[in-house]
Amino acid sequence: MSKVKYYYDSETLSYKKIEKKKGRKIKIFALSILGMFLSGFILLIIYLNLPSVQTPKELSLQRELHNMQLQFELLNRKMEQAQAVLSEIEERDNNLYRIYFEANPIPEEQRKAGFGGINRYKDLEGFDNSKLITNSSRNLDILTKQIVIQSRSLDEIVKLAEEKEKLLEAIPAIQPVKNKDLTRMASGYGYRTDPFTKARKFHYGMDFTAPRGTPIYATGNGRIARADNTASGYGNHIVIDHGYGYESLYAHLYKYNVKVGQKVQRGDIIGFVGSTGRSQAPHCHYEVFKDGERINPINFYYGSLTAEEFADILRKSQEENQSLD
Ligand SMILES: [Zn+2]
Repeated sequence: MSKVKYYYDSETLSYKKIEKKKGRKIKIFALSILGMFLSGFILLIIYLNLPSVQTPKELSLQRELHNMQLQFELLNRKMEQAQAVLSEIEERDNNLYRIYFEANPIPEEQRKAGFGGINRYKDLEGFDNSKLITNSSRNLDILTKQIVIQSRSLDEIVKLAEEKEKLLEAIPAIQPVKNKDLTRMASGYGYRTDPFTKARKFHYGMDFTAPRGTPIYATGNGRIARADNTASGYGNHIVIDHGYGYESLYAHLYKYNVKVGQKVQRGDIIGFVGSTGRSQAPHCHYEVFKDGERINPINFYYGSLTAEEFADILRKSQEENQSLD
C-alpha cells in the first residue's frame, strides 16, 4: 500500500489528496525497462569478453587441429621442394636430352597445364582451413601431372636413344680391310687415272690394296643385299643394306663368306680380297651410298682410326694417282 499524500489548497482552504500524474508513471516504467536492457547488454559484453571456458575434449581437439595445420604447412613446403627438383629435371630434359635427340622441348605451359574451367576444389571450400587444404591439393595435382609428363618424355627419349644407337651401329664406320693387312692405300675418292684406258675419270670409291685372301669386314650392321658377279666391272662383289638409306659395296672379291639375305654385324668377315672383274691387282674397291648416291667413304672411318691414322689415310687417298678400279 502506497502512502496517500495530501497538500493544502489555499483557495479552498482544505487538504486535498495528491493524485500521481499518469505521465510520471509511464516515465518510471520506461526508465526501468531501459535499465533492464542496459544491464543485460553489459552482462552480455562481459560474458563475450571472458576467456571462454573449454572442456578437456575441446582442448584436445583444438591441439589436434593445430597440429594438423602445422603438418599441412610442412607438407606444402616439402611439395615445393619436390617441385623445385622436378623443375631442374625438366630443364635438363628440355635443354639437354630432348635437344640431343632432336625432339622438341615440352613448353612450360604444357608441363604445368592448369586445371582451369571447373573448380575441382569446390568440396574443400567453406572451412577455416580451406585455403591451406586447397593449396595443398592443387600443388599435389600439378606435381602429379608434371611427373606424368616428365616420365612420358623420358620414355620417348629412351626410344630415341635406342634408335640412335641402332643408327650408329648401322652406319658404315670402319675400314673394310685392316690397316695391318694393307700393302698400300691405292686410291681414294675423286678424279684418278683409269688403269685400263689411262683417261682421267672419277673414282667413286676407295681401293685398299692387300694380298689375295685378306679378310674383308662388314663396315656396319646390316643385311647382305647382293653377293654376285653380275654387275659390270665389280667382279665378285657384295652390297650390304645398312638401313637408314646407307649401303656399302665391296668389289673384286676372291671369295664370299656370306649369302644374300644374311644379317651381318660390323666387323664380321664377309669375304676375301681378290682381283675379279675390272681390276689390275688384288684389292678391295669400297663404296658407300647414302640414299642411292655414292659418297666419299673416308668420312666414315672414325670408328676405327686414331687421329694420326686418319690424317695419314686422308693424305694417301688424296694423292692423285692411278686407281686399281
Ligand atoms: Zn676402285
